[in-house]
Amino acid sequence: MKLDVDVLKYLYKDDFRVLTAVELGMRNHEIVPTELIDRIARLKHGGTYKVLKNLLKHKLLHHDSSKYDGFRLTYLGYDFLAIKTMVNKGVFVAVGRQIGVGKESDIFEVAREDGTVLAMKLHRLGRVSFRAVKSKRDYLRHRSSYNWLYLSRLAALKEFAFMKALETHGFPVPNAVEHNRHCVVMSLVQGYPLVQVKQLQNPETVFETIIGLVVRLAERGLIHCDFNEFNIMIDDDEKITMIDFPQMVSVSHRNAQMYFDRDVECIFKFFRKRFNLSFEESLDDMDGSDEGRDGAGKPCFSAIERSAGFLDRELAASGFSRKDEEDIQRFIEGKAESDTNSDSEEVDLVEDLNEAGTIDGSYSSDLLEQNEGYESQWKEKSCEARESSGSEK
Ligand code: ADP
Ligand code: MG
Repeated sequence: MKLDVDVLKYLYKDDFRVLTAVELGMRNHEIVPTELIDRIARLKHGGTYKVLKNLLKHKLLHHDSSKYDGFRLTYLGYDFLAIKTMVNKGVFVAVGRQIGVGKESDIFEVAREDGTVLAMKLHRLGRVSFRAVKSKRDYLRHRSSYNWLYLSRLAALKEFAFMKALETHGFPVPNAVEHNRHCVVMSLVQGYPLVQVKQLQNPETVFETIIGLVVRLAERGLIHCDFNEFNIMIDDDEKITMIDFPQMVSVSHRNAQMYFDRDVECIFKFFRKRFNLSFEESLDDMDGSDEGRDGAGKPCFSAIERSAGFLDRELAASGFSRKDEEDIQRFIEGKAESDTNSDSEEVDLVEDLNEAGTIDGSYSSDLLEQNEGYESQWKEKSCEARESSGSEK
C-alpha cells in the first residue's frame, strides 16, 4: 500500500482533531455518523464537514451513506494517526521506503533524528475479516472484538510485548522500540529473509541454530507458530534473527504439539530442499544431540523440559492480557467470522448514539489533546529529515 507521508504536510490541527474523532467514534460504530463526529470533534470555529471533505480527498476516511451519513477510517487514516503519535513522541522523524509486504502487514524504514534507520511494522490484521463483515446494523453493542482497528492494535501490542520479553531472555530478535495503535517500531535487522538465501557457508550450523531456537522457545513455554524461511533473517555472518510474533502461543495451548511439529517440519523441509541437508548424518556428527529427538532427528515436543519462570506466564503481566490473547487467537484460528453476528439483539440506534456520544465525549478530550500542538513540530522535522536523509517518499 502506498504511504504518501507528504500528505501529512497538508494536514492541520483540525484535520487531526476530526480524524481522531472518527477513530473514537469507531469504538462503537463501524460507520460513525457525521453528526456524532461533529459532536466529538467540537471544532472551535465549526466546519467539521469541510474538514471531512479534505480527509476524504486524501483517502484517510471512507464515506458511507448507505444507511445514514457517516465515515470510517481507512488504513491510511489509521496509519497517519499512529505515525503522527510516533513523531510527536520523537520516535522517528521521517518515513522512508517500504521494505516488506506481508499478508497482514506493511513494513517501512523510518529515520530517527540522528539518522539511525529503524523498521516500522503496520499491522493489517483483520483486513479480510473487515471486508467480510455484513452486519445489518452498524452499531456494535459491545466493543467489537472483530473490528480491524482492534485486531490490528492487538497484534501490534502482542508483537511488541513478545519481542521485548524474548529480547530480555536473550533470544535473537529485533530491539522493540515503541508501539502505538497498529504500529510497532523496532530495530532494522541487517540481512535478508532466509528464503532469499541460495547458499550458506555453514548450512549445518545454521540449521542447528534454528532448530535450537525452536527448542529453547518451547523450554521457555512458547511456540512461534509461523517459524519458517520468511520469518528468519540471516546476515552475511550467518547470524540469525527471528521476527514476526503475533501468532505465537503458549506450550499449554491445546494444539501446542501440532504447532511445534509444524514449525520443526518447516525448517527440516526447507533445509532439505534448499541446502540438500540429510539430517540423520548431520545429527550423528553432533555428540549426544539425538537426545530428545526422533529417528529422523526431529526434536520431540513431549521430551522438552520447561525451565522455571515460563516466559508465557511473564507475558501475562506485560499489558497483553489473557482476554487480548483469546481475542487475537480466536481471529487467527478463523473463528471470528462465525461469531461476528452472534449478538443480534435489536438496539434503539438513536438512544445508543446519544449514550455513545457521551462516552466518546469523555474519552475524547485527553486523546484529542495528545494530538494537538505538534503539527508544526512534525512538519519541520519531516522536512528536515527528508532533506538530510534523501529518503524516498
Ligand atoms: P508479516 O506478519 O506480514 O509476515 P513480518 O514481520 O514477517 O510481517 O515482516 C515481513 C517482511 O518485512 C519480512 O520478511 C522482512 O523481509 C521484513 N522485515 C520485517 N521486520 C523487519 C526488521 N525489523 N528489519 C528488517 N526487515 C524486516
Ligand atoms: Mg512474516
